[in-house]
Amino acid sequence: MDHTRLYSLDTIRHIDVLDLLQVSSCGSENMTVQEVLEMDRRYYEFSGSYREMGRQHGEAMREGAKRMCDIRLELSLKRARQVQPDYQMAQVLEVAAAHLPFHEQWCPDSYQELLGISEGAGIAMKRLVVGNGYTDFVDVLVREASGVCECTSIAATGAATADGRLHLGQTWDMGFAAADYVVCIKRQPDEGPSTVGITTAGCLSLIGMNEAGICIGNTNVTPTDGRPGVIYLATMNEALRRTSFDEAVATVKQSPRASGHYFYLGGPEGQMVGLETTATQVAEVAPDGLGLYAHTNHYQERTILQWAARREGSANSVDRQGRARQLLEEGCGELGVAEMMEVLSDHAGDNPICRHTQDPASGASLAAVVMTPEERRISFTIGNACANPAVDMSP
Ligand SMILES: [Zn+2]
Repeated sequence: MDHTRLYSLDTIRHIDVLDLLQVSSCGSENMTVQEVLEMDRRYYEFSGSYREMGRQHGEAMREGAKRMCDIRLELSLKRARQVQPDYQMAQVLEVAAAHLPFHEQWCPDSYQELLGISEGAGIAMKRLVVGNGYTDFVDVLVREASGVCECTSIAATGAATADGRLHLGQTWDMGFAAADYVVCIKRQPDEGPSTVGITTAGCLSLIGMNEAGICIGNTNVTPTDGRPGVIYLATMNEALRRTSFDEAVATVKQSPRASGHYFYLGGPEGQMVGLETTATQVAEVAPDGLGLYAHTNHYQERTILQWAARREGSANSVDRQGRARQLLEEGCGELGVAEMMEVLSDHAGDNPICRHTQDPASGASLAAVVMTPEERRISFTIGNACANPAVDMSP
Protein backbone atom coordinates (compact mmCIF):
# COMPACT_ATOMS: atom_id res chain seq x y z
CA MET A 1 0.00 0.00 0.00
CA ASP A 2 1.18 3.48 -0.86
CA HIS A 3 0.91 5.98 1.96
CA THR A 4 2.44 9.00 0.31
CA ARG A 5 0.41 12.13 0.06
CA LEU A 6 0.24 12.60 -3.69
CA TYR A 7 -1.70 10.20 -5.86
CA SER A 8 -1.87 10.00 -9.61
CA LEU A 9 -5.27 9.68 -11.22
CA ASP A 10 -4.49 5.98 -11.74
CA THR A 11 -4.29 5.57 -7.98
CA ILE A 12 -7.37 7.69 -7.39
CA ARG A 13 -9.38 5.31 -9.60
CA HIS A 14 -9.01 2.77 -6.81
CA ILE A 15 -10.69 5.03 -4.25
CA ASP A 16 -13.98 3.22 -4.07
CA VAL A 17 -15.82 5.78 -1.97
CA LEU A 18 -15.16 8.79 -4.18
CA ASP A 19 -17.08 10.16 -7.10
CA LEU A 20 -14.69 9.40 -9.92
CA LEU A 21 -16.56 11.50 -12.45
CA GLN A 22 -15.77 14.59 -10.42
CA VAL A 23 -12.13 13.57 -10.16
CA SER A 24 -11.62 12.93 -13.86
CA SER A 25 -13.41 16.15 -14.81
CA CYS A 26 -10.89 18.31 -12.96
CA GLY A 27 -8.26 17.72 -15.65
CA SER A 28 -5.37 17.73 -13.18
CA GLU A 29 -2.58 15.19 -13.59
CA ASN A 30 -1.89 14.97 -9.85
CA MET A 31 -3.83 16.22 -6.88
CA THR A 32 -3.66 15.75 -3.17
CA VAL A 33 -6.09 13.32 -1.62
CA GLN A 34 -7.22 16.24 0.56
CA GLU A 35 -8.33 18.05 -2.61
CA VAL A 36 -10.15 14.94 -3.75
CA LEU A 37 -11.86 14.66 -0.37
CA GLU A 38 -12.94 18.32 -0.50
CA MET A 39 -14.45 17.84 -3.93
CA ASP A 40 -16.29 14.77 -2.74
CA ARG A 41 -17.65 16.59 0.32
CA ARG A 42 -15.59 14.44 2.66
CA TYR A 43 -13.48 17.24 4.17
CA TYR A 44 -14.67 20.36 6.02
CA GLU A 45 -13.12 23.17 8.06
CA PHE A 46 -15.12 25.06 10.69
CA SER A 47 -14.06 27.96 12.92
CA GLY A 48 -15.43 30.43 15.43
CA SER A 49 -17.32 29.91 18.68
CA TYR A 50 -18.54 26.39 19.44
CA ARG A 51 -22.08 27.46 18.50
CA GLU A 52 -20.82 28.95 15.21
CA MET A 53 -18.76 25.88 14.33
CA GLY A 54 -21.83 23.75 14.99
CA ARG A 55 -23.98 25.96 12.78
CA GLN A 56 -21.45 25.77 9.93
CA HIS A 57 -21.36 22.00 10.36
CA GLY A 58 -25.16 21.66 10.36
CA GLU A 59 -25.57 23.86 7.29
CA ALA A 60 -22.79 22.13 5.35
CA MET A 61 -24.04 18.60 6.04
CA ARG A 62 -27.76 19.17 6.51
CA GLU A 63 -29.02 16.22 4.42
CA GLY A 64 -26.39 13.76 5.67
CA ALA A 65 -26.96 14.72 9.29
CA LYS A 66 -30.73 14.24 8.92
CA ARG A 67 -30.23 10.87 7.26
CA MET A 68 -27.79 9.71 9.99
CA CYS A 69 -30.27 10.66 12.73
CA ASP A 70 -33.17 8.96 10.90
CA ILE A 71 -31.15 5.75 10.41
CA ARG A 72 -30.07 5.62 14.05
CA LEU A 73 -33.52 6.42 15.44
CA GLU A 74 -35.01 3.61 13.34
CA LEU A 75 -32.28 1.22 14.53
CA SER A 76 -32.92 2.28 18.15
CA LEU A 77 -36.64 1.61 17.80
CA LYS A 78 -35.94 -1.77 16.18
CA ARG A 79 -33.66 -2.74 19.08
CA ALA A 80 -36.16 -1.55 21.67
CA ARG A 81 -38.91 -3.61 20.03
CA GLN A 82 -36.77 -6.74 20.29
CA VAL A 83 -37.12 -6.33 24.05
CA GLN A 84 -40.58 -4.73 24.19
CA PRO A 85 -42.59 -5.26 20.95
CA ASP A 86 -45.05 -2.39 21.47
CA TYR A 87 -42.34 0.26 22.07
CA GLN A 88 -43.07 3.55 20.26
CA MET A 89 -40.84 6.21 18.68
CA ALA A 90 -42.26 8.79 21.12
CA GLN A 91 -40.78 6.71 23.96
CA VAL A 92 -37.40 6.53 22.20
CA LEU A 93 -37.38 10.33 21.88
CA GLU A 94 -38.41 10.76 25.51
CA VAL A 95 -35.37 8.75 26.65
CA ALA A 96 -33.20 10.75 24.24
CA ALA A 97 -34.43 14.07 25.66
CA ALA A 98 -33.47 12.93 29.17
CA HIS A 99 -29.80 12.97 28.08
CA LEU A 100 -29.76 16.66 27.13
CA PRO A 101 -29.53 18.32 30.59
CA PHE A 102 -26.35 16.32 31.35
CA HIS A 103 -24.66 17.86 28.33
CA GLU A 104 -25.88 21.36 29.14
CA GLN A 105 -24.43 21.08 32.65
CA TRP A 106 -21.25 19.02 32.23
CA CYS A 107 -19.99 20.08 28.79
CA PRO A 108 -21.57 23.45 27.95
CA ASP A 109 -19.24 24.11 24.98
CA SER A 110 -19.98 20.76 23.35
CA TYR A 111 -23.66 21.37 24.11
CA GLN A 112 -23.38 24.73 22.29
CA GLU A 113 -21.78 22.93 19.34
CA LEU A 114 -24.65 20.44 19.27
CA LEU A 115 -27.15 23.33 19.45
CA GLY A 116 -25.39 24.92 16.47
CA ILE A 117 -25.58 21.66 14.47
CA SER A 118 -29.25 21.39 15.43
CA GLU A 119 -29.93 24.93 14.20
CA GLY A 120 -27.81 24.64 11.05
CA ALA A 121 -29.26 21.30 9.97
CA GLY A 122 -32.80 21.85 11.26
CA ILE A 123 -32.76 18.73 13.47
CA ALA A 124 -34.36 18.63 16.93
CA MET A 125 -31.81 18.16 19.73
CA LYS A 126 -33.41 14.93 20.97
CA ARG A 127 -33.02 13.43 17.50
CA LEU A 128 -29.47 14.75 17.17
CA VAL A 129 -28.36 13.22 20.46
CA VAL A 130 -29.34 9.75 19.14
CA GLY A 131 -27.56 10.43 15.83
CA ASN A 132 -24.45 11.29 17.83
CA GLY A 133 -24.58 8.76 20.63
CA TYR A 134 -26.25 5.74 19.06
CA THR A 135 -24.07 3.00 20.59
CA ASP A 136 -24.43 4.54 24.07
CA PHE A 137 -28.09 5.25 23.53
CA VAL A 138 -29.07 1.65 22.73
CA ASP A 139 -27.26 0.55 25.91
CA VAL A 140 -29.51 2.94 27.86
CA LEU A 141 -32.60 1.86 25.93
CA VAL A 142 -32.25 -1.92 26.04
CA ARG A 143 -29.42 -2.44 28.53
CA GLU A 144 -27.36 -5.58 28.01
CA ALA A 145 -29.45 -6.70 25.01
CA SER A 146 -27.75 -4.13 22.76
CA GLY A 147 -24.56 -6.09 21.96
CA VAL A 148 -23.37 -3.80 19.15
CA CYS A 149 -20.00 -5.21 18.04
CA GLU A 150 -17.65 -2.76 16.40
CA CYS A 151 -14.10 -1.53 15.87
CA THR A 152 -10.61 -2.92 16.43
CA SER A 153 -8.09 -0.64 18.15
CA ILE A 154 -4.31 -1.11 18.23
CA ALA A 155 -1.39 0.66 19.88
CA ALA A 156 2.39 0.24 19.67
CA THR A 157 5.06 2.24 21.43
CA GLY A 158 8.69 2.31 22.55
CA ALA A 159 10.79 -0.63 21.35
CA ALA A 160 7.79 -2.06 19.47
CA THR A 161 7.94 0.72 16.84
CA ALA A 162 10.65 1.43 14.28
CA ASP A 163 10.98 5.07 15.37
CA GLY A 164 10.33 4.58 19.10
CA ARG A 165 7.24 6.78 18.87
CA LEU A 166 3.67 5.97 19.88
CA HIS A 167 1.36 4.96 17.03
CA LEU A 168 -2.24 4.19 17.89
CA GLY A 169 -5.47 3.86 15.99
CA GLN A 170 -8.34 1.71 14.91
CA THR A 171 -10.83 0.59 12.33
CA TRP A 172 -14.11 2.41 12.70
CA ASP A 173 -16.84 -0.17 12.08
CA MET A 174 -20.48 0.77 11.77
CA GLY A 175 -23.63 -0.21 9.86
CA PHE A 176 -22.82 0.17 6.16
CA ALA A 177 -25.76 2.60 5.84
CA ALA A 178 -23.46 5.23 7.39
CA ALA A 179 -20.75 4.82 4.70
CA ASP A 180 -21.84 7.84 2.66
CA TYR A 181 -21.67 10.13 5.69
CA VAL A 182 -18.12 9.60 6.99
CA VAL A 183 -16.20 12.89 6.92
CA CYS A 184 -12.95 14.47 8.06
CA ILE A 185 -13.43 17.73 9.97
CA LYS A 186 -10.88 20.33 10.99
CA ARG A 187 -12.11 22.62 13.77
CA GLN A 188 -10.52 25.93 14.80
CA PRO A 189 -12.41 27.19 17.85
CA ASP A 190 -11.99 30.77 19.10
CA GLU A 191 -11.14 29.32 22.51
CA GLY A 192 -9.37 26.00 22.86
CA PRO A 193 -7.05 23.94 20.66
CA SER A 194 -7.76 23.21 17.00
CA THR A 195 -8.59 19.61 16.13
CA VAL A 196 -8.76 17.29 13.16
CA GLY A 197 -10.67 14.05 13.15
CA ILE A 198 -13.03 11.58 11.59
CA THR A 199 -16.73 11.51 12.31
CA THR A 200 -20.08 11.28 10.54
CA ALA A 201 -22.37 14.07 9.31
CA GLY A 202 -24.00 15.90 12.21
CA CYS A 203 -21.74 14.34 14.85
CA LEU A 204 -19.13 15.62 17.31
CA SER A 205 -15.56 14.18 17.40
CA LEU A 206 -15.40 10.41 16.94
CA ILE A 207 -11.66 9.85 16.53
CA GLY A 208 -9.38 12.87 16.61
CA MET A 209 -6.29 14.82 17.62
CA ASN A 210 -5.76 18.37 18.81
CA GLU A 211 -2.85 20.75 18.27
CA ALA A 212 -1.51 20.03 21.77
CA GLY A 213 -0.96 16.41 20.71
CA ILE A 214 -3.89 14.94 22.64
CA CYS A 215 -5.56 12.20 20.63
CA ILE A 216 -8.50 9.95 21.39
CA GLY A 217 -10.51 7.14 19.84
CA ASN A 218 -12.80 4.37 21.00
CA THR A 219 -14.32 0.95 20.55
CA ASN A 220 -17.77 -0.07 21.71
CA VAL A 221 -18.34 -2.29 24.75
CA THR A 222 -21.63 -3.22 26.43
CA PRO A 223 -22.08 -2.66 30.16
CA THR A 224 -25.18 -3.22 32.29
CA ASP A 225 -25.36 0.23 33.90
CA GLY A 226 -26.48 2.42 30.95
CA ARG A 227 -28.51 5.49 32.03
CA PRO A 228 -29.27 8.93 30.65
CA GLY A 229 -26.02 10.88 30.74
CA VAL A 230 -23.30 12.30 28.48
CA ILE A 231 -22.85 10.44 25.18
CA TYR A 232 -19.39 9.24 24.23
CA LEU A 233 -18.85 11.70 21.38
CA ALA A 234 -19.43 14.62 23.76
CA THR A 235 -16.99 13.04 26.24
CA MET A 236 -14.34 12.81 23.50
CA ASN A 237 -15.14 16.32 22.22
CA GLU A 238 -14.44 17.56 25.77
CA ALA A 239 -11.19 15.58 26.07
CA LEU A 240 -10.01 17.26 22.84
CA ARG A 241 -10.50 20.68 24.47
CA ARG A 242 -7.71 19.88 26.98
CA THR A 243 -4.09 20.80 26.38
CA SER A 244 -2.60 18.47 29.01
CA PHE A 245 -2.70 14.69 28.68
CA ASP A 246 -3.54 14.16 32.36
CA GLU A 247 -6.47 16.57 32.12
CA ALA A 248 -7.77 14.82 29.01
CA VAL A 249 -7.64 11.45 30.79
CA ALA A 250 -9.34 12.96 33.86
CA THR A 251 -12.09 14.39 31.62
CA VAL A 252 -12.97 10.95 30.29
CA LYS A 253 -12.85 9.44 33.77
CA GLN A 254 -15.06 12.13 35.28
CA SER A 255 -17.67 12.29 32.52
CA PRO A 256 -21.17 11.39 33.77
CA ARG A 257 -21.29 8.86 30.94
CA ALA A 258 -24.53 7.48 29.52
CA SER A 259 -22.85 4.11 28.98
CA GLY A 260 -19.47 2.45 28.45
CA HIS A 261 -16.84 2.58 25.73
CA TYR A 262 -13.21 1.63 25.59
CA PHE A 263 -11.42 4.96 25.12
CA TYR A 264 -7.74 5.19 24.26
CA LEU A 265 -5.78 8.41 24.63
CA GLY A 266 -2.34 9.40 23.38
CA GLY A 267 -0.28 12.41 24.42
CA PRO A 268 2.41 14.73 23.02
CA GLU A 269 5.27 12.89 24.76
CA GLY A 270 4.05 9.51 23.57
CA GLN A 271 2.01 8.79 26.70
CA MET A 272 -0.84 6.32 26.25
CA VAL A 273 -3.71 5.19 28.47
CA GLY A 274 -6.62 2.91 27.66
CA LEU A 275 -9.80 3.36 29.68
CA GLU A 276 -12.38 0.59 29.80
CA THR A 277 -15.49 2.38 31.02
CA THR A 278 -19.05 1.59 31.93
CA ALA A 279 -21.51 4.38 32.77
CA THR A 280 -20.23 4.44 36.36
CA GLN A 281 -16.89 2.55 36.39
CA VAL A 282 -13.40 2.98 34.89
CA ALA A 283 -10.48 0.54 34.58
CA GLU A 284 -7.10 1.64 33.21
CA VAL A 285 -5.14 -0.47 30.77
CA ALA A 286 -1.81 0.22 29.07
CA PRO A 287 0.58 -1.30 26.53
CA ASP A 288 2.30 -4.44 27.85
CA GLY A 289 6.03 -5.11 28.30
CA LEU A 290 6.47 -5.33 24.52
CA GLY A 291 4.83 -1.92 24.07
CA LEU A 292 1.71 -3.38 22.39
CA TYR A 293 -2.01 -3.27 23.06
CA ALA A 294 -5.12 -4.38 21.13
CA HIS A 295 -8.73 -3.92 22.16
CA THR A 296 -12.00 -4.78 20.45
CA ASN A 297 -15.48 -5.03 22.00
CA HIS A 298 -15.15 -7.04 25.20
CA TYR A 299 -13.93 -5.90 28.60
CA GLN A 300 -10.45 -7.19 29.46
CA GLU A 301 -9.85 -5.88 32.98
CA ARG A 302 -10.93 -8.25 35.73
CA THR A 303 -11.98 -5.39 38.03
CA ILE A 304 -14.67 -4.18 35.65
CA LEU A 305 -16.07 -7.52 34.44
CA GLN A 306 -18.96 -7.53 36.90
CA TRP A 307 -20.45 -4.56 35.00
CA ALA A 308 -20.06 -6.29 31.60
CA ALA A 309 -23.21 -7.49 29.84
CA ARG A 310 -21.31 -10.72 29.12
CA ARG A 311 -18.19 -11.89 30.87
CA GLU A 312 -16.95 -13.77 27.81
CA GLY A 313 -16.36 -11.76 24.64
CA SER A 314 -18.26 -12.73 21.49
CA ALA A 315 -16.31 -14.86 18.97
CA ASN A 316 -16.28 -11.84 16.63
CA SER A 317 -14.63 -9.62 19.22
CA VAL A 318 -12.24 -12.25 20.59
CA ASP A 319 -11.10 -13.28 17.08
CA ARG A 320 -10.31 -9.71 16.01
CA GLN A 321 -8.52 -8.91 19.26
CA GLY A 322 -6.42 -12.08 19.03
CA ARG A 323 -5.53 -11.53 15.38
CA ALA A 324 -4.63 -7.85 15.96
CA ARG A 325 -2.43 -8.88 18.87
CA GLN A 326 -0.74 -11.59 16.77
CA LEU A 327 -0.04 -9.18 13.89
CA LEU A 328 1.36 -6.54 16.28
CA GLU A 329 3.67 -9.17 17.79
CA GLU A 330 4.82 -10.29 14.33
CA GLY A 331 5.68 -6.69 13.43
CA CYS A 332 7.10 -5.83 16.83
CA GLY A 333 10.21 -3.64 16.57
CA GLU A 334 9.38 -2.47 13.06
CA LEU A 335 5.92 -0.98 13.47
CA GLY A 336 5.11 2.40 11.93
CA VAL A 337 2.09 4.06 10.36
CA ALA A 338 2.11 1.90 7.21
CA GLU A 339 2.56 -1.31 9.22
CA MET A 340 -0.28 -0.37 11.59
CA MET A 341 -2.50 0.33 8.55
CA GLU A 342 -1.61 -3.15 7.28
CA VAL A 343 -2.86 -4.62 10.57
CA LEU A 344 -6.13 -2.70 10.07
CA SER A 345 -6.34 -4.12 6.52
CA ASP A 346 -6.14 -7.77 7.57
CA HIS A 347 -8.71 -10.24 6.22
CA ALA A 348 -7.67 -13.48 7.93
CA GLY A 349 -10.23 -15.71 9.65
CA ASP A 350 -14.01 -15.85 9.90
CA ASN A 351 -14.17 -12.51 11.72
CA PRO A 352 -11.57 -10.34 10.00
CA ILE A 353 -10.32 -6.99 11.31
CA CYS A 354 -11.07 -5.26 7.99
CA ARG A 355 -14.77 -5.81 7.54
CA HIS A 356 -16.62 -5.62 4.22
CA THR A 357 -20.31 -5.66 3.35
CA GLN A 358 -22.76 -3.95 1.03
CA ASP A 359 -25.70 -4.72 3.35
CA PRO A 360 -26.83 -1.43 4.96
CA ALA A 361 -27.80 -3.25 8.16
CA SER A 362 -24.43 -5.05 8.59
CA GLY A 363 -21.22 -3.72 10.05
CA ALA A 364 -18.34 -2.66 7.82
CA SER A 365 -15.06 -0.84 8.40
CA LEU A 366 -16.01 2.65 7.25
CA ALA A 367 -12.70 4.27 8.17
CA ALA A 368 -9.27 3.43 9.55
CA VAL A 369 -7.04 5.77 11.54
CA VAL A 370 -3.44 5.68 12.82
CA MET A 371 -2.33 8.63 14.98
CA THR A 372 1.21 9.68 15.92
CA PRO A 373 0.71 12.38 18.56
CA GLU A 374 4.42 13.21 18.94
CA GLU A 375 4.36 14.31 15.29
CA ARG A 376 0.80 15.75 15.46
CA ARG A 377 0.02 13.38 12.60
CA ILE A 378 -3.27 11.67 11.92
CA SER A 379 -3.28 9.25 9.01
CA PHE A 380 -6.65 7.92 7.88
CA THR A 381 -8.62 6.22 5.15
CA ILE A 382 -12.27 6.85 4.44
CA GLY A 383 -13.57 3.40 3.61
CA ASN A 384 -11.68 0.15 4.25
CA ALA A 385 -7.95 0.48 4.95
CA CYS A 386 -7.22 -2.28 2.40
CA ALA A 387 -8.81 -0.45 -0.54
CA ASN A 388 -8.26 3.25 0.05
CA PRO A 389 -5.18 5.50 0.19
CA ALA A 390 -4.29 6.98 3.56
CA VAL A 391 -4.38 10.76 3.95
CA ASP A 392 -2.10 12.55 6.43
CA MET A 393 -3.32 15.60 8.30
CA SER A 394 -2.30 17.73 11.27
CA PRO A 395 -4.58 19.60 13.67
ZN1 LIG B 1 -10.51 -5.00 3.58
